[in-house]
Amino acid sequence: MDPIILVHGGAGRIKDDKIAKVLVEGVKKAAKIGHNILAKGGSVLDAVEAAVKYMEDDENYNAGKGSVLTLEGEVEMDASIMLGADLSAGAVTVVKDIQHPISLARMVMEKTSHILLAGEGAKSFAVSQGIQILPEGALVTERTKNALTKYLASQEHKGDGHELGTVGAVAIDSSGRLAAATSTGGREGKLRGRSSDTCIIGSGTYADDNIGATSTTGHGETIAKFCLAHSVIKSMEGGKGANEATNDCVQLMTKRLNNTAGAVTLSSKGEVGIGFSTERMSWCYQKGDELHFGIDHEEHKIEKC
Ligand code: ASP
Repeated sequence: MDPIILVHGGAGRIKDDKIAKVLVEGVKKAAKIGHNILAKGGSVLDAVEAAVKYMEDDENYNAGKGSVLTLEGEVEMDASIMLGADLSAGAVTVVKDIQHPISLARMVMEKTSHILLAGEGAKSFAVSQGIQILPEGALVTERTKNALTKYLASQEHKGDGHELGTVGAVAIDSSGRLAAATSTGGREGKLRGRSSDTCIIGSGTYADDNIGATSTTGHGETIAKFCLAHSVIKSMEGGKGANEATNDCVQLMTKRLNNTAGAVTLSSKGEVGIGFSTERMSWCYQKGDELHFGIDHEEHKIEKC
């Protein structure tokens, strides 16, 4: 089968068309980076990690550099990664001053007997693995500082600001192996120490070679209550196709809990699923030499690479 990588750059109310364009350009680049690895016979884990790392480095996304700020103006990030072959998984939560939380999540998966490391413990583990700790505040940007100031001035502080751009990727290789990865700065104006759905296996990320792989984005507390990623997988296990399962579960969650999200999915047969109940979600996948992408509902553009 043709290898595929499917990437998202966050779901929500993206009002500005210029920003929307930038987010779409970013997911296109991330998908190409991941696909290049798959095309050369690289692993699905390497592909999703590389795609997510690219977006963690891009300040326009809410992950790595450019992550939204807590009420106190700090960056605290979450990430998770999962391999469909043996259901191994790794995640980190409330990590600070690290350029690539997704790589740290992968190290938790591959180098410890745990699934999730938090805060200071995650930082000590990062140091033990030779990961560079950045100077305090290095991941804070002018954009996120201004956004927090605007948010604090404009509304009650419920930790639900409008800055968006959580990132995620799912990939399948030519032998049908699957992986999923997701990374976020969380919700703008959140309380210090808040963990998101993104670091919860089954909510933000899930992969099982027998069924499929999913990465989610949107209102974290809602996604976590619904176990959105695992719901999509279960729905596919019950016989639905990737797109139907993804859209059904997102809509069911929104109906039941009155909040919005998005998800991207690949089935073990290589079917693609893209669904969001938010206004927009940037997404892109590469299959062969075709790049498919969009951000608005019903939008599906195709370009040759
Ligand atoms: N799910 C993330 C969180 O709640 C945010 C997002 O995906 O936009 O932290």
